[in-house]
Amino acid sequence: MTARTTVGAVLPLRLKPYVDADNSAFWSGGADGALMIHRCRSCGSWFHPPAPVCRNCQSLEVGPERASGRGTVASYTVNVQPWIPGSEPYLIAWVELAEQPGLRLTTNLVDVEAEDVSLDMPVEVVFEPHPDGDVWYPLFRPAPGATA
Ligand SMILES: [Zn+2]
Repeated sequence: MTARTTVGAVLPLRLKPYVDADNSAFWSGGADGALMIHRCRSCGSWFHPPAPVCRNCQSLEVGPERASGRGTVASYTVNVQPWIPGSEPYLIAWVELAEQPGLRLTTNLVDVEAEDVSLDMPVEVVFEPHPDGDVWYPLFRPAPGATA
């Protein structure tokens, strides 16, 4: 199946997130090309989505830190349901970030066709700005050399 995966192709589908103190770095980091993920300063564990408390040790000493933007495909599917009339199929994935086993983002895969995606495929972050210019959606594309 061919999924429409060009960056920007699914932009009309994107709802603007509610931005708060905990997630503002995550949604705005793309302005600087930075994938900002919450990390605990007490135990060092990373976690997502952002929250004011560490899920590992319950410390309140948490905050956004720049992640590498590299990861692997942990799972994926092709959405074919036209939730908005006329929309094209697109790829939804869990990307496991390189920083820590189990650290996953739900995202879209772009710049790749569904038949070329595989589990554990190396991917890298790419940002798609909202037209308002205040939110950047972290999406993932195959890392160089990841597909045949
Ligand atoms: Zn912790």
